[in-house]
Amino acid sequence: MELEELDEIKTKLSTPKTITILTHRNPDGDAIGSSLAVKFFLEKYGHSCRIVLPSEYPVIFEYMPRIHEAIIYDQDREKALRAIEEADMMFCLDFNGLDRIDTLGPYVQDNNCYKALIDHHLDPEPFADFYLSDTSASSTCELVYQFIGLLGEKKKLDLDIATCLFTGLITDTGSFKYATNPNVFRVAADLKEMGVDDYTLHDNIFNSWSKRQLEILGHSLRNRMTVYPELSAGIIYLNKQDYMKYQISRGDTEGIVNYILMIKGMKVAAFIREMPTGDIRLSLRSKGDISVQELSRAHFNGGGHKNASGGSSDLDLKSTIEKFIKVLPFYL
Ligand code: 5GP
Ligand code: MN
Repeated sequence: MELEELDEIKTKLSTPKTITILTHRNPDGDAIGSSLAVKFFLEKYGHSCRIVLPSEYPVIFEYMPRIHEAIIYDQDREKALRAIEEADMMFCLDFNGLDRIDTLGPYVQDNNCYKALIDHHLDPEPFADFYLSDTSASSTCELVYQFIGLLGEKKKLDLDIATCLFTGLITDTGSFKYATNPNVFRVAADLKEMGVDDYTLHDNIFNSWSKRQLEILGHSLRNRMTVYPELSAGIIYLNKQDYMKYQISRGDTEGIVNYILMIKGMKVAAFIREMPTGDIRLSLRSKGDISVQELSRAHFNGGGHKNASGGSSDLDLKSTIEKFIKVLPFYL
């Protein structure tokens, strides 16, 4: 980001705007936290802000302030499209490619309004006017905090904004275990100084499982996990029947992929699922220099971060697993 760009966005924000805030499909804590934080922040300038989520948010985030106001495209297409059409400015948060917002992508592109992108994924697409894009940031929430600082507006932060931002720090770093940097701890300290109750946040986010969710985890680990010591890798898969039997819905499988990396010596983890729709989705995790982002970009129409990426496959479940095992050695 250049200084002129910062001046430009400051000028844009100096008069009231109708702003639509967008984030990626299957929004996580960072996506939702950054969206709400930006909304609350911009409202303090007198802007009118709407958040559009391409799909429903996980129930664990019910505690987040005013989350019910978000428009969910999958549930109310008309309202979501209206928010996009009527916007005279957009904020794109925690995604950097229009394919991450699915069929909303073309509508966002069609509206020629000024677009600001704040994100920490690799390889941003050139569809926005303002970029605060930094892959060394732990989370988009860390960058939103930085953005507010760059505008010289930290005095506008309040407890709701701080709580939303802290949520993104926690969820994108697995409670400060990975993707950290010195700055994220400074930001966390600042937010805690503002009164963030990090204990309760952790309790809300991590101790809110249902019995059924634990059973899905148990089933995944006991019956659906294969370890390949020669590849330092493990795979967990779930098939359509599993989805039916355990009534698995979005969010129920969050975090399962990470268990593989708890096995000593594991460097790559894949969680491959055959959704009830028949779509095959992958979640990949790695340690150190192994880039699952490159792997999913090259072979599974996906991307993300070096050590955490996702994608999809046009093959069936069995062939997808075979393909993964075949291409993996090229990335080790
Ligand atoms: P998860 O496995 O938790 O769904 O995603 C891990 C990371 O990869 C997230 O940062 C997410 O944004 C990114 N990601 C997941 N699916 C896709 C995808 O289909 N395309 C791209 N470009 N990134 C993805
Ligand atoms: Mn993020």
